[in-house]
Amino acid sequence: MGKTLRFILGDQLSHKISSLKDADPNKDIIFMCEVWDETRYVKHHKKKIAFLFSAMRHFANELKSKGYNVDYVQLDEDGNTGSFTSELERALKRHKAEEVIITFPGEYRVLEEVKSWSEKLGIYVGIRDDDRFLSTREEFAEWAEGRKGLTMEYFYREMRRKHDILMDKNGGPEGGEWNYDKQNREPLPDSIELPVKTMFQADDITENVLRLVEKKFNDHFGDLYPFNFAVTRAEALRALNRFIEERLPCFGKYQDAMKEGKPFLFHSHISAYLNSGLLTPDEILEKAEKAYKDGHAPLNAVEGFIRQVLGWREFIRGMYWHFMPDYEHKNFFHAQRKLPDFFWDANTKMNCMKQCIKETKENAYAHHIQRLMVIGNFCLLAGLSVEEVNEWYLIVYADAYQWVELPNVTGMILYADGGLLASKPYAASGSYINKMSDYCKNCEYKVTEKTGEDACPFNYLYWDFLDRNEKKLKSNHRLSMIYKSWEKRDSGIKKTIKEDAAKFLEDL
Ligand SMILES: Cc1cc2nc3c(=O)[nH]c(=O)nc-3n(C[C@H](O)[C@H](O)[C@H](O)COP(=O)(O)OP(=O)(O)OC[C@H]3O[C@@H](n4cnc5c(N)ncnc54)[C@H](O)[C@@H]3O)c2cc1C
Ligand code: SF4
Repeated sequence: MGKTLRFILGDQLSHKISSLKDADPNKDIIFMCEVWDETRYVKHHKKKIAFLFSAMRHFANELKSKGYNVDYVQLDEDGNTGSFTSELERALKRHKAEEVIITFPGEYRVLEEVKSWSEKLGIYVGIRDDDRFLSTREEFAEWAEGRKGLTMEYFYREMRRKHDILMDKNGGPEGGEWNYDKQNREPLPDSIELPVKTMFQADDITENVLRLVEKKFNDHFGDLYPFNFAVTRAEALRALNRFIEERLPCFGKYQDAMKEGKPFLFHSHISAYLNSGLLTPDEILEKAEKAYKDGHAPLNAVEGFIRQVLGWREFIRGMYWHFMPDYEHKNFFHAQRKLPDFFWDANTKMNCMKQCIKETKENAYAHHIQRLMVIGNFCLLAGLSVEEVNEWYLIVYADAYQWVELPNVTGMILYADGGLLASKPYAASGSYINKMSDYCKNCEYKVTEKTGEDACPFNYLYWDFLDRNEKKLKSNHRLSMIYKSWEKRDSGIKKTIKEDAAKFLEDL
């Protein structure tokens, strides 16, 4: 009987991953590789590449120190052929192995590649369930079966019941409500003191990776330095514990707030760690629930946070696998406009966009409302190309993998799936951004002006978007009041709004 290769992908850095279960340190080979194909299918942010390579190298060393036989191929190693398939082929020959065990990949593209191995390489390929999630693809499909609409809230309630999280003794939701979002929409007071972000010092392994990224990926988007990501499980756990300790109590209240120069606020900043396997959802939920039970954090904060991890994250992944591969080609509004250059250099007069893109460039991070209600909102209103917007979001964030990026972009911000994920488009005028942030104070445009050269572009773009897409949206009952108010407006004002929007879009 030949040897078994256990192939660990770069986002599967979990010691408890299914492909490692029953691995025999005396016989099996743990195989990991850094390949060009994965770094270049989109030109990822420099920090994202550095984070993943460093975390992979640390993970491989941890496995070695546990006694496993690890074969790790570095990117710039002689003979690296640049793709998963060709590197696997070389490894199979090196080790005279006949069998590969792998955990179900996070992305459809990679799954297709994995599925081709058996025939191409003449080996047995065992694909195991991805146990980095709490729900399986089959469970989601079962839940979705026969439903008219797939609403995250109902999926979330089912997950709460199934996993017994924040449930009271009678089987109802803790505190009597499923959702405390009404308490969670406060802007940030000027006087509030913000906790300092948890940062980590680069060790020799990270320094080497940083030099590699500097040399090989200099033409990629984003700032490589300062680099202070967690790159091991121990560090990621420290980041999580500090979030629970310092930020979780205020997470709910200020979840939607934005402040110039303050990118991190009360968010957890764990998505890159969670999506790469350094952290797992069960431990995160357990710690958050415990913080509530211990009286450390209020229910609105803990429920709000748990909804993100147990609800949104699992739902988004379920949607991805349920609707792929068609989902990738959805374009409900036929949006085609080219992505403006300022998405890469933040050089725009719109201060909200400038700040959010600048912070994205610096940190490979923006929090949810920046991604959704500023950048995403602009992409929707301006009718930017679905393909280009998806590519941008996949490039710029350290936590981005297609399974989570695509439904958030195609479904949540662009409504390009025609309402499979969201019941109405997340479209808003400048007044929402003004309410939730201090961006408008330093903007060359005036948020209170609706038309004219100085008017906030979000104001006229909002109405122009609704007008442009009236045929497709008017029957949506959640928009009926808005369309009624548009109909009642003076035809001269409507004309000016449309002219202002046309001019702005032309100048893009
Ligand atoms: C257009 C757009 C693109 C996005 N792209 C990504 C992406 O590529 N990768 C990614 O992990 N998240 C993505 N998100 C979701 C969300 O914005 C990020 O998970 C979050 O900002 C990460 O920061 P945090 O860890 O501080 O999150 P917190 O605000 O502290 O939330 C806690 C956790 O909840 C989970 N979560 C919250 N909302 C979502 C969501 N909508 N979908 C999936 N998980 C969620 C994340 O794991 C997150 O770490 C996107 C959202 C939008 C609107
Ligand atoms: S005025 Fe408009 S463009 Fe300027 S920051 Fe406010 S919302 Fe953004």
